[in-house]
Order: sequence, then C-alpha cells, then structure tokens
Amino acid sequence: AREPIVTESPLGEDPERDLRPQRIADMVGQREVMQRLDIVLDAARKRGEPLGHILFDGPPGLGKTTFATCIPREMNVPLVTSSGPALKAPKDLIPYLTNLEEGAVLFIDEIHRMPKPVEEYLYTAMEDFRLDIVLGEGVNARTINLKLKQFTLIGATTRAGMLSGPLRDRFHIREHLGFYTVEELVEIIRRNSRKLQIPLTDEAAVEIARRSRGTPRVANNRLRWVRDYADSKAGGSATLEVARAALLMAGVDVLGLDKQDRGYLETIIRVFGGGPVGVDAVAHTMNLATDTLSDEVEPFLLRSELVVRTPRGRVVTTKAYQHLQIKPIEKPKE
Ligand code: ATP
Repeated sequence: AREPIVTESPLGEDPERDLRPQRIADMVGQREVMQRLDIVLDAARKRGEPLGHILFDGPPGLGKTTFATCIPREMNVPLVTSSGPALKAPKDLIPYLTNLEEGAVLFIDEIHRMPKPVEEYLYTAMEDFRLDIVLGEGVNARTINLKLKQFTLIGATTRAGMLSGPLRDRFHIREHLGFYTVEELVEIIRRNSRKLQIPLTDEAAVEIARRSRGTPRVANNRLRWVRDYADSKAGGSATLEVARAALLMAGVDVLGLDKQDRGYLETIIRVFGGGPVGVDAVAHTMNLATDTLSDEVEPFLLRSELVVRTPRGRVVTTKAYQHLQIKPIEKPKE
C-alpha cells in the first residue's frame, strides 16, 4: 500500500507519532463511529469514488486527528493537512486545493477557527469541486474559475456548534467523538506500554486509566510520566504504588483532575459562591482564555457531573464540594 504523504503540515512534527494508531483496526473504542465509517469506506472503495466529506467533533485528544490520518491510509490516497488558524485568507486555501490529487484527503484541524471568507470559498470547492477566485479590485476585478480534482475534506473541531450552518451541511458524514471508558483506556495503555517497553502492572494500568479524564491523549501523557517517575525513582518498575506516587506528584487526583480542573471548580466556589456564573467571568478570574475553559476543561467536568450548565451560568454540584472537601456556604433563601 502506498504511504500517504503528509505535506506542509503547519502543525510541524507530529509529537504523537510514536503512539498514534496507524490503521483504523488499531484504534480502540468509538465502536459505533468505526462501524459507520467502515460502511462508507467500503462503499466508496466498491464504487471507486472519493469518500464524502467528513466532520469530526469532540473535546481535544479523543482521536479526531487519528481518524483523519487513518482514513486516507485505508483508502490508499494521499493526505494533506492544514488548520483553521493557518488559513487566514482565501488565498491561503488555493495551493492546498489546486495541488490535491484525485481522491486525496485534505484535513483541516480546528476548522471552526477559519475566518468567514475562507469558509465561503470552501463551499463551492466542497460542493462542485470548483474554486472561483476574484483577482484585482473594483472595476478591474475578474473572477477566475478553477476546476479542482474530486477530493475529500475531513474537518475536525472541538465545537461543531461554532461552524456556520452552510459549512456544517456540506459534510456528508458528521461524527461526534465522546469520552472513552476506563476499560478502553486500559487497553490503550496496555498496548502503548508494550510499544514503549514499560514494565507496567495491570493494577497500575487501571489506575492510570481511571485518572485520565476519559481521554487517550491524557492517558498517553500520564503513562509517559509514570514511566519517567518509575525509571528515576523505582528502578523502572511501574507498580500500582509507583503509579499512585507519580500521579500524586503531578497533582493528578483520584478522579483524574489536574490543578487547572480543580482551580476552575475552586474559583467558582470561592469567588462566585458556587455559581451560577458565566464562563467568561471564570476565565477572566483565572486569567485563561474562555476557549480553553469551554473546550478543554469543562467537557470532562460536565460529564463527571462536578459542574452543571444552567440558563444563568455554571453551577458547581454537591459532588464537587465533596470531592474538594469544601463545605458549601449556606445561601440565604432568595
Ligand atoms: P486535538 O483536537 O487536540 O488535535 P484529537 O481529537 O485530534 O485532539 P488525537 O491527536 O487523534 O486527538 O489523539 C491523541 C492521541 O491519543 C493519539 O496520538 C493516540 O495516541 C491516542 N488515541 C486517540 N484515539 C485513540 C484510539 N481510538 N485508540 C488508541 N489511541 C488513540
């Protein structure tokens, strides 16, 4: 099989490459998504047609990029990658689109961060495989129509809700990636500990999995940290005790929350009386970007029912008070 070529990746070297599954069959979990993808891949191959455009959404680290790199391998077509923030103006799209081979995959990460005019150029490219480029300005403006090869766009976003309707509708397949179960993460950790040749006990694998926020990327990072800790402090053997000590030192608690996660809950409790409070106010107080909170921190806390969303803002739950061992202040009845 031909190796897909990754060209001009604005993301630079892929830091995940050593642990990133190469084929869809090597991926763990996301069963339903995989079953549906299997069908569309199979059908496209049988008809000898390019795949329809695919959109993946979900919190960071759940496998959007992994799917986007595995799919072209399954189809035996080249992959070209870009990202929303790198495509600042419509002209930035031109080299990507005009150089695509027939059937190739163009992967745009963080596609919700493309400016509107770039998005509008993509509409005709996705639908009619055509690019209408306006050259010059005012009375001298001319439109040039470029015919493109048929390609597949794979978009990834942490927030499907931020995509405009017309862009979202042009994706034939839309898949949401959710958090992984502890069992699935254990499987990922086991496989990767073999790849990295880490002598890891079963109990240690489960402990790391439990404390990885349902997220493969977090599991991989914690696994690497436990390995470093074991090598430095425990003669290389990663037992349950060693894993616990390593995670404690990294500030990862029994639910897998890190300092930032706890900081978020504590800010709502101490500064805003437990809520309701808008996410912007929490972000300001913590000196963080609102996007970081809503894309990276909140999804797992919401899933874990440590915080809930209400029409008036975020409210910390009793479970969060118990977890942080903070006594709720009795609020006067309104
Ligand atoms: P981001 O949006 O931040 O780029 P992402 O959703 O694209 O995140 P990936 O980069 O695909 O996430 O995944 C992070 C790492 O987690 C991968 O390198 C891979 O090692 C691991 N991983 C993700 N999904 C799976 C899976 N289903 N099975 C095994 N490993 C996985």
